[in-house]
Parts: sequence; C-alpha cells; structure tokens
Amino acid sequence: MMRVDFARLKRDLEELGAIGRTPEGGVSRPSWSDADMEARRWLLERIIAAGMQGRVDAAGNIFGRWQSGSPVVLVGSHIDSVPNGGMFDGALGVLTALECLRRIKEEGVGLRHPLELVAFTDEEGAFGGFFGSFAFTGVLKAGEIPDIRDSTGLRIADAMARHGMEALQAPTAFRNPKEIRAYVELHIEQGPVLEAQRIPIGVVETIVGIRRYGITFRGRADHAGTTPMEERRNALLGAADLVVKGHQMVRAEGTSASRVTVGILRVKPAVANIVPAEAFLTYELREQSAEWLRRLAEKSRALAAEVASAWGLEVSVETILDIEPVPLAEEVQAAIVAAAGELGCRSLRMPAMAGHDAQVVGRVAKAGMIFVPSRDGRSHSPLEFTADEDVERGANVLLRTLLKLAAE
Ligand SMILES: [Zn+2]
Repeated sequence: MMRVDFARLKRDLEELGAIGRTPEGGVSRPSWSDADMEARRWLLERIIAAGMQGRVDAAGNIFGRWQSGSPVVLVGSHIDSVPNGGMFDGALGVLTALECLRRIKEEGVGLRHPLELVAFTDEEGAFGGFFGSFAFTGVLKAGEIPDIRDSTGLRIADAMARHGMEALQAPTAFRNPKEIRAYVELHIEQGPVLEAQRIPIGVVETIVGIRRYGITFRGRADHAGTTPMEERRNALLGAADLVVKGHQMVRAEGTSASRVTVGILRVKPAVANIVPAEAFLTYELREQSAEWLRRLAEKSRALAAEVASAWGLEVSVETILDIEPVPLAEEVQAAIVAAAGELGCRSLRMPAMAGHDAQVVGRVAKAGMIFVPSRDGRSHSPLEFTADEDVERGANVLLRTLLKLAAE
C-alpha cells in the first residue's frame, strides 16, 4: 500500500514553520506580508523541485500540477496565518497535499483525473478573508477590490502592487466549476473533539453558518450621583442582560453545535461618572443547520427587544454578516471514510465550527475536509500542536482519498 514519506513531510513542515517565526514560537504570515512572500517563494520552489509546474493566478493563489486536462481533483488549503498563530493551520493542508502529489507522481500511478495542488490567498483575513477562494469561484467582484483594506487601512491593491500584482485583475482567477472534479482540504480540527474521543480522523459533514449582528441599546446619559437609581435608562444594563440571557438561551435551547459569542462591547460616552447612554455589541451565532441558525437568530432578536423594554431602552439590530451553513459533498465524505477504514483508522463525522476555503469552494464544486486532532483544541496560537503520528495518519488518509477520487 502506498504511503507518504513522513520524514520528508516533517522537514517541509519545519521549514515552512520557520518562515515568519515569532519569539513566542508561533508564526506570523499575514497575507502579502514579507513573511507570506517568503513562504510563497518557498512553496513554489518545493513544487518545482517535485517536478511539477508551479503557477500563480491573478489573485495570488498558488497551484502545482504535472498532468494536463480537466476536471481536476484539487487539494490544498492556505499558507497565510493569523498574527502569532500556529505552524499547522493551513500549512498542514498544503504540505500534506504536496507530499501526496509527490508520492503519486513518483509511483507513476495512472489516474483518470489530474491532481492539482492549491494554496489560497488570504484565508485568514488580513484583508477580510477568502480573497483567493472568492476570486477562484467567481464570488469576488472587481468593484469591491478598491475598498478591501487591512486593519491599518492598507489597501489590498497597494499591498499586491508592491509585489508586482494587479489586484483589480483578481476576478480573472475564476475557474469554471466544471473543471473541478472535487476539492479536498486536510486541516487541524482547531477544537477538542477528536482528541477527547481519541479518534484520529474527522470527516467534516458541514461547515457552520454564521449570523453576526451589531446591536445598539440606547438610553440616556445622566449624572452618576444626582440621578436616582429608579430613574436611569442605562444602556449598558440592556447589553449586559443580553450577553447573559443570550448565552443561557443558546445553552438551553440550541444544539450541541450552537454557539453564541459577544466579542465586542463599547459604551458611550465611556466616562466614569456618567450613566452610559449607548451600548454597542457584536452578537455572533454559529450553527451547522440553516434551520437552527434561523430559529436561534429569531429568538435572539426577540430577546434583545425584551431586555431593551425591561430596562426602558431602545434597541436596533443590524446584520453584519450572514453566511449559510455549507454541507460538504457526500461522495467526498464517503471516500474519506473508506480511506480511513482501509488504513485501520477510526473516523468521526463532525461539523467544522470555523471558516475554511472548503466552504467557499463547496458552494460550486464537490468539496470535503479531513480533520486531524489539535492538542487541547488550541489554535490561532503558538501552542497549536498536532502529534507526528496524527499528521502521518491524516496524510495517508488524504493520499488514499485522492487516489479514489482521481480514479473514478
Ligand atoms: Zn486554516
């Protein structure tokens, strides 16, 4: 049975993990940074060293293949990272893909469909996220590009121009979905489920949907001393009540895949001796079922109205982000389950609770994801870690999955 060369894969992981290394032992490779550029050059060299043709499209997505023709079985992930993130997120998917393609090429296996490696641009969101996969799938429109900026205000157009790329051309990176037989992405779980259940392989069924609201409570600014307690219209009390009641409602009434998070809370006028007149919070729901997401969103909006009236406040709810859950292809899931079974690995069907390029590609083509365990569920941190044996098992499951999908 064909297996990956784990020593070679491990060397690649260490070499790529050294690019953008931080003093804390993490990696910082935001898209289009110097470290990202160094990682891009390194990856292209590895692709060419493997005897494949390397190519960069107009969105900066990197490809590698050695056979011509279509539709292709596309495999990969991303090599950019969050600031001071880990060395496995994204990189593991690209490097296991590279290793699988090298092995299949070395063995000279005849396949019905060509294999193609991909590393998508800005998955992590230095410039908002999914720039590469949005362009590749035709979602990115030229008119949006001038407004895409990072947190410092730098336009992606200027960041790309520094490297001789014309961002406005990015939509030409579109690939007709008919040319994609399937897309497979191996990724660390970034959560605790596989480790806790001692199961080495996760087979992603759905990538969660996200509904994010900006909620503003409005009351009245008053003197902190002279205004009696019963006369106050304190906007922060409404916000605080919603934070607690929203959490309780989702725990009591949601599913095991329901999440609610308030990540930003801002008060105005934010003066120690003035009763807050306004409180703004972000309220983010995640769910794998579109029906449950809709239900929890409705309950949350009702809850916001209820607490506002209980505290004598006005409230407005604005939708900031609305992403439907994306079910992944049953055919790819079945191939992963079968591949794991042939290798004697237990596998678990599970939702992905974080965003991935597979959710973008999965809207237009058959997509699947393989999860490998994350120690303590840690990710987006220098503490992110996946054990060697889990990396090797995951890579071998990916290898067999690709052989199956490319043969049929
Ligand atoms: Zn990732």
